[in-house]
Formats: sequence, structure tokens, C-alpha cells
Amino acid sequence: MNQTDSHIGSFARQLVVWQRVARQFVVPQFITQQLITPTLDFFLPPRCATCDIVLARAPALCGQCWSKLDFIDGPICNRTGAPLPFDLGPQTISLNAMRHPPAYHHARAALYYTDTARVLIRRFKFHDRPELANLMVPWLLRAGEKLLAHADIIMPVPLHWTRLFGRRFNQSAELARKLADLTGIDMQVEWLRRTRRTPQQIGLTRADRRKNLRGAFTVPKKYYRFLRGKQVVLVDDVMTTGATVEACAKVLRRIGVAQINVLTVARVVLPETVHI
Ligand SMILES: [Zn+2]
Repeated sequence: MNQTDSHIGSFARQLVVWQRVARQFVVPQFITQQLITPTLDFFLPPRCATCDIVLARAPALCGQCWSKLDFIDGPICNRTGAPLPFDLGPQTISLNAMRHPPAYHHARAALYYTDTARVLIRRFKFHDRPELANLMVPWLLRAGEKLLAHADIIMPVPLHWTRLFGRRFNQSAELARKLADLTGIDMQVEWLRRTRRTPQQIGLTRADRRKNLRGAFTVPKKYYRFLRGKQVVLVDDVMTTGATVEACAKVLRRIGVAQINVLTVARVVLPETVHI
């Protein structure tokens, strides 16, 4: 990169910062729309969120990346939302959910956590790209239509504060906030808290996952009365083993939340959850 390119890059980065600051402080929309965004597009053209090909607008995916997204459209377990090989009706419960009934009522995810979804979510989470939430929230709205219809409160799965230093934002809170904006449902980011930083769940046995997350989430007592008898939708980016949302749901159940549902952008489909 020559010196001119590096100056343009640094100028464009400054513009990105100003664009975010403008959004935070509600600078009149015409200033961001007519001045900051076009200048930014000139120096830093919009690109596909996963393969970086130049596009007309952002955040968006190019046709090729879009076609590689695997939406969960087929029959699913009514409790866990895990895809099922046969359609036996909307009330079907998987054998796995019968053997180990989850603490939440229903879980739904928009996508299988396959390659393109993985790249997209990793960029959203680890590469400081909060604007990618705008791309994913319509998918959440579609996958969670029934869960959101009667929801009183939307809550993001909390991140431990030490993780916020590395990422600068909680990806689940970003999704929950945009979802609340679009649906008009109340969003509470402070009520459910993560008190302990926990290692990754992948590779652990069911018992170890439970032990790993024991006491990791809490709701301050002052919020109990606002939650009793309510319908809550927990929002997260990916459901991997389901242990994290299970731990959150247990806490909410204990304090008297009437219904706890889970909505994620993607989910890992483990072999054990596929059979009926
Ligand atoms: Zn692409």
C-alpha cells in the first residue's frame, strides 16, 4: 500500500467513526445520508458482508454468498427448533427434546450454522461490524414470527464484561435492540447478567456443560417483579449446544417468567438432535 492509499484508508476509517457518532447522537438524518454516507461510499465502497466483492449497497450479500445460506425451512421440533427428517405436523417433538425437556418453551433459528453463516457471524462478532445486525434481523423476524407475536420483553444473552473489552459490543444486544426497534417490544439488556466468564461448551459432555454454566447468569432481585408472569424472548447469534440458553432459561423460570422462548440467527445441528 502506498502512502496515498494509507491516507485515504485512514480518512475513510475516520468517516466510519463519524458515521457511528452521528447515529449515536441523532445528527439530523440528511447530514448522514447526504454528506457522510456518500463520501464514505466513494472512498470505501460497500462490499459483500462475507466475500468482500463490491456491491451497490451495504450491509448486503452478493448473489453467490446469498445462495450459499442454508435457511431452516423444513419440519422442525416444536420445542428445540431442531430440523427433523420427516414432517409429522407442527406439534412434533423430537426424541431428544422428550428425553431432555429444555427449560425454555420454544427455540427457533433462521439458519443452519454452515460456512457462509459462520463467516457472516464471525465478522459481525469479532471484526467490529455491528451494522451487520441490519442484515440478519429480518431473518430473525421471519424465524421468530410466532414467538414475537405474544412477547412482552426481548432480552439478549449477556456477555461477560471482560469479553466486551475485546469486542466492544455485545452482538446479541445489537440484534435484540434492532429487533425491539422493528417490533415495538420492550428490550431489557440489564436484567439478565453474566456473572462468570465461561469456557467454550463445544466438546464437553452434557453434564460438564451444565457444570460449566452453573451460576453463570443472574437477574438482580429488583427486576423480579417486572418479569413474573411475562413472556420473554431470549436473543443470541448462534445456538451451539443449547447449554447457554438453557442456563439463562433456568434462571428466568426460577423467578417466575411465564414463557421463555429463544431466537437465534443460526444453530449448529448436532447428529443427536436430528432424529425423531
Ligand atoms: Zn459474497
